[in-house]
Amino acid sequence: MQHSSINKKNVRRVSYLRISVTDRCNLRCIYCSPVRNFKFFSHKEILTFEEIVRLVRIGLMLGIEKVRLTGGEPFVRRNFLNLIELLLGSFPGLDLRITTNGTLLTKDTILSLKKIGIKAINVSLDTFDRKKFFKITGMDLHHRVINAIYDLIDAEILTKINIVALKNINQDEVLKFAKFAYENPVHVRFIEFMDLSMSKDQMGTYFYSANDILSVIKKEYSLIKYEPKENAKGPARMYKIQGGLGKIGIISPLSNHFCHTCNRFRITANGKLRTCLFAEKDYDLKPILRNPKLGDRFLYRIMKNAMARKPIGSKLISKQGNGIQGMYVVGG
Ligand code: SAM
Repeated sequence: MQHSSINKKNVRRVSYLRISVTDRCNLRCIYCSPVRNFKFFSHKEILTFEEIVRLVRIGLMLGIEKVRLTGGEPFVRRNFLNLIELLLGSFPGLDLRITTNGTLLTKDTILSLKKIGIKAINVSLDTFDRKKFFKITGMDLHHRVINAIYDLIDAEILTKINIVALKNINQDEVLKFAKFAYENPVHVRFIEFMDLSMSKDQMGTYFYSANDILSVIKKEYSLIKYEPKENAKGPARMYKIQGGLGKIGIISPLSNHFCHTCNRFRITANGKLRTCLFAEKDYDLKPILRNPKLGDRFLYRIMKNAMARKPIGSKLISKQGNGIQGMYVVGG
């Protein structure tokens, strides 16, 4: 648990809950997967669908307005669509989003998602090149992601493509992605690489700054700064492209960190509540969830307390290389 004292003036509103439904993934991205000590949570350790629904219920009582299901890869979790149905059935009108690598998103699944009521999906795609995709992810599944993106567009599900900007790997594709956003009604969002410490020298190898990305795009396209509506606000700086169908977003946790505006909580697949991606401590909710003597009010109090103690200020840069867990564990 965090031990800093509560300063009421600094208490921030947490309105966004990201829940990792599994730590397993069918890709092995160079910037995310562990190289050594690979050990996934056992089935027993993972939160059940009922436990996830319970946490969302308490989150809503605490002012959560948006929930994202992520992972690992959420679609590798068995019966994942049932969880979505359960959540939307339990909380009609819930703003529920999903982040996926898109490799398991068949046309049928997309149609089911549309029918269930999913309106927006984030798909991670770092390259338009099949060989490069293999080099980045370790899997030859590029075609599946591309098909999924077109099927999502056809189904009129708002599609946000997340690209981790990687120097000397996909740096040369910035304009290709911008062109895709110009020609299609999608959001193309470049994320600065964060060294989550699988290897100490990744930072120098891969880091490609948001400003460099923007200046490349601005040479070719006219970008108009755009403020999303309050409930659609996120960490991305958003731009409309003059004359284009889609939008460009830049997420720069390092060069222009957004800790002071962060409104999110993360819950890992094994039920640890993290108030900050880079927090050293977390709140273990599973023993409480699984203790029949402890009701919702205990969970409520713990989550409320965690909100009050959500750390302010970025320690992020100083922590680079200090053994922060990969996003596949924390839930990207
Ligand atoms: N499997 C899903 C996917 O691929 O979108 C969800 C989990 S993934 C960990 C979520 C996001 O985290 C992806 O957009 C991924 O690109 C991003 N991510 C993972 N490691 C990262 C890193 N080291 N730096 C920046 N973004 C990272």
